[in-house]
Amino acid sequence: MMPPKDSEIAMTFDPQQSLAEVRREFGEHGGVNMSIEASTTFTVLEAANMPEIFQGRMGPEGGCYLYGRHFNPTVYVLGRYLAAMEGTEAAYCTASGISAIAAVLIQLCSPGDHIVASNTIYGGTHALLKEFLPAKTGIDVTFVDIGDAAAVKAAMRPRTKVVFCETIANPTLVVADLPAVAEIAHAGGAQLVVDNTFSPMLLSPAKLGADVVVHSLTKFAGGASDIIAGAVCGSADFIVSLMDLHTGALMLLGPTMDPKVASELALRLPHLGLRMAEHSRRAQAFAERLSEKGLPVTYPGLPSHPQHELLGRLANEGYGSGGIFALDAGSKDKAFELMNLLQNEYRFGYLAVSLGYFDTLMSCSASSTSSELSDEDMAAAGIQPGLVRFSIGYTGTLEQRWAQFDEALRRVGMV
Ligand SMILES: *Cc1c(COP(=O)(O)O)cnc(C)c1O
Repeated sequence: MMPPKDSEIAMTFDPQQSLAEVRREFGEHGGVNMSIEASTTFTVLEAANMPEIFQGRMGPEGGCYLYGRHFNPTVYVLGRYLAAMEGTEAAYCTASGISAIAAVLIQLCSPGDHIVASNTIYGGTHALLKEFLPAKTGIDVTFVDIGDAAAVKAAMRPRTKVVFCETIANPTLVVADLPAVAEIAHAGGAQLVVDNTFSPMLLSPAKLGADVVVHSLTKFAGGASDIIAGAVCGSADFIVSLMDLHTGALMLLGPTMDPKVASELALRLPHLGLRMAEHSRRAQAFAERLSEKGLPVTYPGLPSHPQHELLGRLANEGYGSGGIFALDAGSKDKAFELMNLLQNEYRFGYLAVSLGYFDTLMSCSASSTSSELSDEDMAAAGIQPGLVRFSIGYTGTLEQRWAQFDEALRRVGMV
């Protein structure tokens, strides 16, 4: 039998299956869950092993650990599980999503190098790219509409080292054509770095051409809004470079994940697929009903969404179109009125930033998570002042939640 071509692998990759095949770790007393390695330093059996470890000739693959900021066995296992989920050779975890992103960009770029970035990204990442990196590191950044292939191509320069985008953009829900963007990046000698925070399980960027996949595990992966964490997934060489004792951005900047956090997250990955499917099922139902009422709702699961067909082509089957939709309430005041009612009278969800929680979270992007953007940047990214982002939860029944939503829409006169 012929080995499958890359494009076929992309279409048949199933993160759930991959997670089922990954080597499981058991607890030290035979527990079904791995033990937490609480040590920050590790004994070596022979004195002669110490220089070997320091020179990188012995490492975690061989069971040799040095110091907790370098590699910790519990965090290392979570990294293996995440690599399986994303279909990459390796992965390692960080204290937050933003530290994963910052470390990757600093590792790949030197002063004078250039990044082409999507203009619709998480506000913190936007600030990092627009303000922090240019001012502190001399890395140059150009923002583009990632859906406009000609614009991405035109922005490439000889020193472009990275093209950066999110799978499903925050908060406009524009779906990136990853194979097309990867082709442009690679043709220009750059690497494609993709933030997959919005679509774990349902999109596998590495299988679609991304070189590095970053995550905020704070969102869907954690699922309970109780943990700040992140991860970098990529080639073994790249992960090792991040941990290099002399030149590694993770090793030297030190956004280390606590092993207790790694243990918690490892217990949540097994049901991430089920949770994503249910987030998506609810979001799809609500988006369809809002759309039937003629309301301006943006959701990639709707045929009216400009990248509906594209997402259908790129997505892994069985996880839907994601748990997030955006509804334009028309004005900031109307958005605030709707969110106040939804939280305080109807208990539909909570007025809070972040996403991927088991309950619904809602926020007005222009006056919260995207407020780092200037008015011009906001307009360029298509973020209207009354745009409410909903991260749909799965508590209660679907019909009960819809009744709450419907009633609030009526009260504010939107239907
Ligand atoms: C929240 C978020 C981040 C930042 O993650 P933290 O864990 O809060 O550091 C990055 N990208 C996206 C898309 C996010 O939603």
